[in-house]
Amino acid sequence: MLWVARSDADEGNGLRTWMWAVGCQALAYLLLANLKWWPNSVSTLLGNAFGALSVALFFAAIRQFLGAPIPLRRLALMCALVTAAAASTTFFYAPGKPSLIPTIFNGFAYAGLELLNALAFWRKPRPELLRVQRIVALLYLAMGLLLPVRAALLLVGELNLGQFSIPAAWNAPIYLFGFIYIIATNLGFLQMCKMRAEADVRLQALTDGLTGLPNRRALDEAMAGALGAAQRQGQPFTLLMIDLDFFKAINDNFGHHRGDEVLAIFAQRLRAGLRAQDQAFRYGGEEFVALLANTQADGAKLLAERLRQQVGSGAQPSMPAISASFGLAVWQPGDSADAIFQRADRALYQAKALGRDRVAMA
Ligand code: GH3
Ligand code: MG
Ligand code: MG
Repeated sequence: MLWVARSDADEGNGLRTWMWAVGCQALAYLLLANLKWWPNSVSTLLGNAFGALSVALFFAAIRQFLGAPIPLRRLALMCALVTAAAASTTFFYAPGKPSLIPTIFNGFAYAGLELLNALAFWRKPRPELLRVQRIVALLYLAMGLLLPVRAALLLVGELNLGQFSIPAAWNAPIYLFGFIYIIATNLGFLQMCKMRAEADVRLQALTDGLTGLPNRRALDEAMAGALGAAQRQGQPFTLLMIDLDFFKAINDNFGHHRGDEVLAIFAQRLRAGLRAQDQAFRYGGEEFVALLANTQADGAKLLAERLRQQVGSGAQPSMPAISASFGLAVWQPGDSADAIFQRADRALYQAKALGRDRVAMA
């Protein structure tokens, strides 16, 4: 299914690697199942080799997903050691016979990786994935603890009886957990890929491509949030509408490309000039909006005046000087989004009419 449904979007998020891991896992189980279709040495050797490869690939897929480096050489070493253990068993220790030595050996080897998987998911939480990540981390933790316990039990049995001996009462829950683990980690990983892709698309939909600022749609959402908070808690905020002055002339004289650069630089300065709790948006064209949290008229005027000086100052030598006009509107009880926007717009119009490059308040 992963192969059939693969898409460009899965490039680099680990899902392709996960697909190969699932493939190797299926092959490993097929080889290790006691089907008697091929000699026992083949199942032991290849089954363990593919098993190790699949564990390494799952590990790599998770690192890829989390953007962590993949220790390729150490993974290759793990695969080589597991395969060597299987080879030495099938050729020297118990030639032609089924033996649990490889299972015991890889039980300890895989447990390390499972614990590292758990740690990686636990340590690098993304807010939108938090719950799924935690559940998957717990599954890896449980497997990482269960594998060495089972390996130790098998080892005791192998040493005492020379053959597999683990009480059925132990085996059944271990296998049951194995099934749950496989299904849940697969669903969990797919779900994480899906949720993260959705979050990325949502972020894109709310971001202006040219300036990197949140866009008009994001502004509408933020405005609704700010109005709600203001009504509930009576915390006033201020809306700042900003329009670049004579921007058409910049386009006409320097070309649209330079105009775009000016917009991006202006956006950077705007963001840099705001406090951490304020938000800047590209409203459209050469118009920007800032939402100033917890701010009344006096504070807003000061901040806008400082911004006005900052955004125009220090233009690059090759760049034309830029200036902007600012229209301020402070939230009033009972305001709708439309009402506050209209006031800010009126103030902006005033600033323009009075000669531009200034701050006006409605
Ligand atoms: P004013 O001081 O009255 O605001 O004058 P202005 O020239 O800035 O205002 P006007 O609304 O006449 O022109 C805005 C210009 O902004 C026109 C449009 O071509 C330009 N513009 C809008 N969006 C973009 C953009 O994304 N890139 C570039 N390069 N120009 C843009
Ligand atoms: Mg304009
Ligand atoms: Mg303008």
